[in-house]
Amino acid sequence: MRATRRRMRIVLLGPPGAGKGTQGDRLADRCGVPKYATGDILRDAVRRHTPLGLEAKRYMDAGELVPDDVVVGLVDEALESPESRGGFILDGFPRTVVQAERLAALLEKKELQLESVVYFDVPEEELVRRLAGRRVCSACGAVYNVHSEPSRAGEACQACGGGLETRDDDKEETVRNRLRVYRESTEPLLDWYRGQPTALHELVAVGSVDEVYDSLLSVVGCS
Ligand code: ADP
Ligand code: AMP
Repeated sequence: MRATRRRMRIVLLGPPGAGKGTQGDRLADRCGVPKYATGDILRDAVRRHTPLGLEAKRYMDAGELVPDDVVVGLVDEALESPESRGGFILDGFPRTVVQAERLAALLEKKELQLESVVYFDVPEEELVRRLAGRRVCSACGAVYNVHSEPSRAGEACQACGGGLETRDDDKEETVRNRLRVYRESTEPLLDWYRGQPTALHELVAVGSVDEVYDSLLSVVGCS
């Protein structure tokens, strides 16, 4: 009997600043699967002043969620791409129960199964600290943290030399609203997934990036 290779199809769930992007990038590199982060796709649209970007910007600036139809459309498009056939990592999607239901319907239509959901559990005061210290390279998008993951090139990106910026929505007032929106709209997804057949791994995502990565690899892996 020939063994069929398991496809990594996972969702990274958790509050803003929990480390989903940081860990998702590492896992995507290691496993050779694409990572689709709806926040990154939307920020790219905002930068390029596309109609999607213009619509999304006002929600993002206020720390509110972009309408479900818009983000579900983006994920549908991403999952149509040939590169996602060998598996994928979703980061920051779904963020509402409606999005989770729509994702389940999309996958069912494609006859695909979500392998697992990984929830990143981080206390609120640590989230606030991480978001306040987050810096992003304006050229290549690499993510640093002035407290925990500083760039070895100081104020410049150690990967490409680009300038480091604070995300507009990482300002204190917006962060507070994003955390409120998370609690109201996204946290209920935990209970929703507890009632689904998909495995839900709850990760205590504190400690160094390497430590969290080790815990992540102990629950999902590509080999
Ligand atoms: P998310 O994608 O969940 O919003 P990020 O991956 O962007 O979160 O991480 C938020 C910030 O916290 C970034 O500045 C990142 O460098 C930093 N960070 C990520 N993981 C850790 C960790 N384990 N400990 C401390 N800081 C972290
Ligand atoms: P993130 O980069 O994941 O922190 O997302 C940044 C912002 O993009 C959020 O505050 C929302 O405004 C928007 N966004 C990203 N993903 C979603 C989603 N799945 N649903 C609704 N809005 C989203």
